[in-house]
Amino acid sequence: MNNFSEVNLKKGCFDTPIVKERGQREVFCGLTSIIWLHRKIQDAFFLVVGSRTCAHLLQSAAGVMIFAEPRFGTAILEEKDLAGLADAHDELDREVEKLLSRRPDINQLFLVGSCPSEVIKLDLSRAAERLTKVYAPKVRVLNFTGSGIETTFTQGEDTCIASMVPILEKSDKRQLIIVGALPDVVEDQFLKILHGIGIKNISTLPSKNKSENPTIGENTSFVLAQPFLNETYEELIKAGAKCIHAPFPFGEEGTTKWLLEITKEFNLNENKTLEITSSARTRARDSIKKVSEKLKDKKVFFFPDSQLEIPLARFLVNECGMKALEIGSPYINKKILGPDLNLIPNGPVISEGQDVDLQIERCLSSSPDITVCGLGLANPFESKGLTTKWAIELIFSPIHGYEQAADLASLFSRPVKRKEILNL
Ligand code: SF4
Repeated sequence: MNNFSEVNLKKGCFDTPIVKERGQREVFCGLTSIIWLHRKIQDAFFLVVGSRTCAHLLQSAAGVMIFAEPRFGTAILEEKDLAGLADAHDELDREVEKLLSRRPDINQLFLVGSCPSEVIKLDLSRAAERLTKVYAPKVRVLNFTGSGIETTFTQGEDTCIASMVPILEKSDKRQLIIVGALPDVVEDQFLKILHGIGIKNISTLPSKNKSENPTIGENTSFVLAQPFLNETYEELIKAGAKCIHAPFPFGEEGTTKWLLEITKEFNLNENKTLEITSSARTRARDSIKKVSEKLKDKKVFFFPDSQLEIPLARFLVNECGMKALEIGSPYINKKILGPDLNLIPNGPVISEGQDVDLQIERCLSSSPDITVCGLGLANPFESKGLTTKWAIELIFSPIHGYEQAADLASLFSRPVKRKEILNL
């Protein structure tokens, strides 16, 4: 960690001992991330090498498919593949050939591993290398895993982006990369502010198309926009880039601090950043205040799910006046989450991993006003009278930046309000 001082590290929850649990866990697998990644990377196709269960998960997570040519699909491993009776590599090659001859719009093909492909040890990196040679330079073939054995639902995005880093072209250009898939509207807002404060070369990873992919080198600084990008972080450091450590851009506080850390890294004028963002900051503060009235002094309990838990808890505590009882996260990498942990006042239990029965007991005995958890836990909790928020909704909604700060607060205040009305 190199961007925040020793003194700061001692404040807040940074040094709070982490309760580590390794037991039964309740989360979706990394295939889920294809739902938002295929919208973001517009010349890509995600070919899941998996079972009918994987195909069903994707279909139901994506809702009803109203477009004729979706950009994801499943190459189904049949029983004979799983029993080792057929050469799965030959079959995969045939599927890819059919797909690419039918779809000239595909420039990037991701082979996505699943539980079944992991179990039969199908080497998708070898397949990706072989197929890249066949289809280069038009199509680039990459692979990553979304298997539920290895990944939780946001980790699919991490393994996907990490797979793209080693093949980025090298360059010495002084530049910034914003890392993590953001909704276009949020990305455009950030780019406008960052150009306004004087940063010239900015790219995003993932980019919309192969031709817009960033270059990378020792003069590259990157800032994460999503807190679950652990593997991507390591790959970017390995490629020589420097990380700008900052709280994540949720709420007015997080967004301002995120922008100020970038400003510092590029030796630009912090006052100018504050000036440019002045009206957006005021707007965000005022609108959060209005929306978060119902949240003041309410207690929140986070189950580990999206890996957004720590920055979101910081937002709810510092900007909405809530009290965090427990902040659970599937993984806690202090190199990435340190600045947010620093800003959360001491008090909550910080837990990593899950032993779901123990955590349910802790939750029920602490009587939270709102519990943030996965779909599997939400319904049973509601039937016990708890108010819940589905963690997955936080991934599908635009919640970063100033203009979305009030929407973020209202994602939490709406269920609290609804509960109050029902109790009248
Ligand atoms: Fe289920 Fe594994 Fe397929 Fe995910 S990857 S849908 S957990 S079988």
